[in-house]
Amino acid sequence: MKIRAAVIAAIICLPAFAQSTDPQPPMSIVVKAAKLLDVRKGAYVENAAIWIDGERINEVGRATDVLTHAPKNSRIIDLGHATMLPGLIDCHTHIMGRIPEGDDGYVLNLATKSQAFRALEGAYNARITLQAGYVTIRDVENEGSGYADVALRDAIKQGLAEGPRMQVATRAIAAVGQYNPFGVSSDLANFPTGAQMVSGVEEVRRAAREQIGHGADLIKVYADWNHPTLTVDEVRVVVEEAHKQGLKVAAHATTAEGIKNAVIAGVDSIEHGHGIDRADLELMKAKGTFLVPAERHKNEPTTPEQQRGYDAFMQGIQQEIQMAMNLGVKIASGFDAAEASGQGKNADELAALVRRGMPPLEAIRAATLNAAELMGWQDKVGSLEPGHFADVIAVDGDPLKDITILQHVKFVMKGGTVIKDEGSHQ
Ligand SMILES: [Zn+2]
Repeated sequence: MKIRAAVIAAIICLPAFAQSTDPQPPMSIVVKAAKLLDVRKGAYVENAAIWIDGERINEVGRATDVLTHAPKNSRIIDLGHATMLPGLIDCHTHIMGRIPEGDDGYVLNLATKSQAFRALEGAYNARITLQAGYVTIRDVENEGSGYADVALRDAIKQGLAEGPRMQVATRAIAAVGQYNPFGVSSDLANFPTGAQMVSGVEEVRRAAREQIGHGADLIKVYADWNHPTLTVDEVRVVVEEAHKQGLKVAAHATTAEGIKNAVIAGVDSIEHGHGIDRADLELMKAKGTFLVPAERHKNEPTTPEQQRGYDAFMQGIQQEIQMAMNLGVKIASGFDAAEASGQGKNADELAALVRRGMPPLEAIRAATLNAAELMGWQDKVGSLEPGHFADVIAVDGDPLKDITILQHVKFVMKGGTVIKDEGSHQ
């Protein structure tokens, strides 16, 4: 009886209690630090602050100005001597990938892991990627995990999992027999594949429509695999279907002809591109096609012969990047993480770009302004400006002098929520 009386009292009291609490507007936040990198101007704002309301930025500038305008009861996050930058963006990742190293790794990954397990791996990768300061990613193929990347993207959006803002390509499209896994017995006709395998324009069209129907934000095609594979007509059909829906097309291409085919067909970005020639780059410049170098060399050389091959590969990449910069081709950065060892290490790509002759500011732009433009999200992410999501990272030191400090991000905020604060900035 007593319990029932208490319950009734609680029910009666509840509306009165609810009414007595005035609805509070969400509290403003001001994040301040010694420096803020304005990636558009390419200059620091000293003694800077960002006023954030909810998920978005309201004002960016010198702390003395911002603090005068922000509400007096704003929560202040003082990052001391740190340098603030926009949340970083990786335009070429495989967030569902924890593919074992070695020649059989890809087959084993498909053969031994359930889709449910793959989804959980993706959730882990997403969390460590966000913690590394990559607040936005463009995933360019889930390596045989069905549509688990769509599920992960949506779970993150709903707050069920922690991770970056995501655009996902889902399964990708490749010519039959021209993408992983290789070496599977011909008797295993139904063995899962890394991409959706197609032949002919109608199959390509169906694959693009299916992927879009299942939630793809962009379409990835394999224009070549060491040799040209999909035809210009096949790629053109993908571009037609994607562009009709306002979606972009990313093309893996590493041969001069594969790159040319993809660019002529109208893709929005060339991924890797390390066999690129001047004619390809001129065509890309003329058509506004992005280059996402994503040149990570996955196998470290162990013999002198491998070392020679590695050196030649790296020299080719250096030429590619310098020629692209000289011609004014837009470059966005992507690390191509696909194994456990690469996940969350996305900023290694920025250090690699600088090693190949890119000025640090341009490397940072490749992971902010340019990346946002490639994703079509330039009005939301990629720079610290009013109206943009409050995606802020902070590091100790000067990333324009030493790009490698971006490999050690101390503070991460996504949409006004603090994800990580190591608190050692004072
Ligand atoms: Zn890749």
